[in-house]
Amino acid sequence: MLKAGALQKAIFNSVNFSSIATDAKGVIQIFNVGAERMLGYAAADVMNRITPADISDPQQVIARAKTLSSELGTQIKPGFEALVFKASRGIEDIYELTYIRKDGSRFPAVVSVTALRDDQEAIIGYLLIGTDNTARQQVEAERTRIEQLLAKKNQDIEFIAAKLHQDDTKLIAQQRELLEVQERMVQIDRLSSLGVMVGGVAHEINNPLMGVLNYVEFARDRSDDAKSIEVLNKALHEIGRIKKIVQNMLVFARVDHHANASCRVADAVKQALSLMEGEFKKNAVLMRLDLPEDLPPVHCSAGSLQQVLVNLMLNARDALAQQADRQVNIRASQIDSKVVVSVCDSGPGVSEEVRQKLFTPFFTTKAAGKGTGLGLAVSRQLIEEVGGTISFAPEPGFAACFRMELSVA
Ligand code: ADP
Repeated sequence: MLKAGALQKAIFNSVNFSSIATDAKGVIQIFNVGAERMLGYAAADVMNRITPADISDPQQVIARAKTLSSELGTQIKPGFEALVFKASRGIEDIYELTYIRKDGSRFPAVVSVTALRDDQEAIIGYLLIGTDNTARQQVEAERTRIEQLLAKKNQDIEFIAAKLHQDDTKLIAQQRELLEVQERMVQIDRLSSLGVMVGGVAHEINNPLMGVLNYVEFARDRSDDAKSIEVLNKALHEIGRIKKIVQNMLVFARVDHHANASCRVADAVKQALSLMEGEFKKNAVLMRLDLPEDLPPVHCSAGSLQQVLVNLMLNARDALAQQADRQVNIRASQIDSKVVVSVCDSGPGVSEEVRQKLFTPFFTTKAAGKGTGLGLAVSRQLIEEVGGTISFAPEPGFAACFRMELSVA
């Protein structure tokens, strides 16, 4: 009993708890040192004078009465009853409450309420034990502040991540571009090594071919037999075709020896025409030129441009073979720092499928023995070597047009 009494006394005298005991009506009977310290009242100021409701935030007391009334289905008055009603019904009750100090300042408390009963279980009073909740609320507030801060930081991080992702997308696009350039370079490399190989093969073929040509010519010139002469002429014709292929192969294999050369488009066209004139006359092709006098020279060797023009004119001639209206139109004009040259014909043009393959080496739609499929591939190589472009670009009135863009020298 002594020990228990000492313990009770110790708890009761603790400065960390406000222990307030009331009578059954709520009038304060005991106000411990903890309560004095927390609330600023001396025990004598409050004992037998007021109820704990008088030192509580009235708004909270009203709100608590309202909530409890609807929760328990009975009318609870917004005063001391609201603070102890649950405990009076034997329900354990711990809640947060704002106490008001003597000086009017407030502090949050966690209050635990117990009903005090006599031997017959009749309520003789209430014990309200409170702890100062300021520190906990500060911690809560700090936690909320930190959580908000974290949420904001997370937003920032997400924003940065999204931006990085954007940059990533840009980077990926750049990498893709780079990859395309690399692929193109590999293609060009392959084309160049193909060129070297083709060149080697062409040279290998050329010498024995010339030998064969000489032998066959020799045999034909000394033959009296009509049948033999006919056969040998056929052989010579075939050799002529092989010679053409070999020549094309040699042009295809040519690497740029004229990187810094320049020429006038009009001169190259005239040179090419002098070679083609006979062909066009023979085929009744109407040739039209539109070459302004004051065109600046272009960055391309005369030989290359002439070669390309001849290739395009030969194709135009072939395309016109079956046409009633046979026209070839060559035009040149300056657009900014480029000279644009187009070679158009009134032929049938090309299908989409053919269009895709026009510049592919060895692609031809011509009858076996007639085409090599190298004319356009060689032309593109020659034009691209000097930084120009060549493409298929039909114009009004002409189903087939090849358009070159060359830099002004
Ligand atoms: P080749 O003339 O030996 O076939 P090219 O590379 O010069 O080789 O031409 C490839 C193909 O492109 C031709 O076989 C033809 O089908 C098509 N082509 C080229 N020029 C024309 C044109 N002016 N009109 C229609 N088709 C053309």
